[in-house]
Amino acid sequence: MKRLLFLLLLFLTEYQQTCAQKNYGRRLVDTLAGEAMKGRGYVGGGDSLAARFIAAEFRTLGLLPYKGSYFHSFEFPVNTFPGKMSVELGGKALVPGVDFLVDPSSRGGEGTFSLVFVEPEDYKLWDRMAARLREAAKGFLVMDEDDWERLSEAERKVKELAVKYLKFSKEPLVEGVIFLSSRKLTWSVSTKEFPRVLITVKKEKVPENLDSVTVHMDQHWKSSHIAQNVLGWVKGKGKSDSVLVVSAHYDHLGKMGAQTVFPGANDNASGVAMLLCLARHFSEYPLEHDLLFAAFAGEEAGLIGASEFSKQEKEILPRIKWLLNLDMNGTGDDGITVVNGSVHQKEFRKMQELNQQAMLPSVKPRGEACNSDHCIFHRQGVKSFFIYTRGGIKAYHDIHDRPETLPLTKFDELHRLLVLFLQAQERE
Ligand SMILES: [Zn+2]
Repeated sequence: MKRLLFLLLLFLTEYQQTCAQKNYGRRLVDTLAGEAMKGRGYVGGGDSLAARFIAAEFRTLGLLPYKGSYFHSFEFPVNTFPGKMSVELGGKALVPGVDFLVDPSSRGGEGTFSLVFVEPEDYKLWDRMAARLREAAKGFLVMDEDDWERLSEAERKVKELAVKYLKFSKEPLVEGVIFLSSRKLTWSVSTKEFPRVLITVKKEKVPENLDSVTVHMDQHWKSSHIAQNVLGWVKGKGKSDSVLVVSAHYDHLGKMGAQTVFPGANDNASGVAMLLCLARHFSEYPLEHDLLFAAFAGEEAGLIGASEFSKQEKEILPRIKWLLNLDMNGTGDDGITVVNGSVHQKEFRKMQELNQQAMLPSVKPRGEACNSDHCIFHRQGVKSFFIYTRGGIKAYHDIHDRPETLPLTKFDELHRLLVLFLQAQERE
């Protein structure tokens, strides 16, 4: 009877705790991916707002500032679209983010322009393509993005050369390019600035009378944007010099014009929420080792925050016993994938074994992949796993990655698994 009561009690505390994690996690995702955070990017100081929010959570949870401050700043260039963002094709207004995307490296533009279409035979010879480019002087070129499979090897070379020219050449020939595509619109952020207007339009949104394009597009090149990594730690109970690190990038893509926000709920409000849930757990139940919680900036712009950390804090790298990077943790209907799982097989088997208690639907290994912040550390010999959830909604780098539709299906299960894994890691 006593044992039963004990088990029941254990179950109840455990249950309350994990349930609370989900409520806390939900609140964090709603805030970080909410309208007020402006997509945690480079319009209206979105990324700084998110940094301040995370630091305030660190303080509330009792995390210590790392080397005297939660904020660790660095600079990088970034291309932004802070104001007007309108495109009219053949007199029809297109909806930003739904009907079209501006290339992240595009410059801005203002006015109505004639259209010149690249025909399939233009790819047969560079001279023909060059003539087409000249024909489009002071106007916009229209290029099919779906034809790649149909082109021969030689034609592909001509197309690649033309696109390269359009992106990089400063010759004042073509004002802009419209790429017509049937694929899903997926946006990103750029640290480069191209000399023309580059737009991708969904093919099905193109009107019949495609005769002209009118653009009103504000673009602002920031040669030196200041961002900050947010770093806090939980002091270990023991004397060990080793550190366990939990990382998650908090930046996203921000805004494409004044009206269109990319909320980044799954990418990566969810990972930051998981990081904060873990911080809350371990500030209450510290490990023997020090635990560093690193909310990195500038990931979408090229893993810049993680890279700056690894340069600024070089001396800590050899002390890192394990780094867990969390990016896109908001679903889990089909379980999780562990990047570097097939590199560090012993630790991966441990994680699978621990999942008998956490009960995620599946824990799958993957090899190396330089697709998130862990990559910077992995390349410098720091042992790491990058964990993302599988299944559920497919929104990615688009306006549909919203908190309202992010299910957090296996958030508690994943939280439990990560707690168990970090506990096991320090016993190794
Ligand atoms: Zn991400």
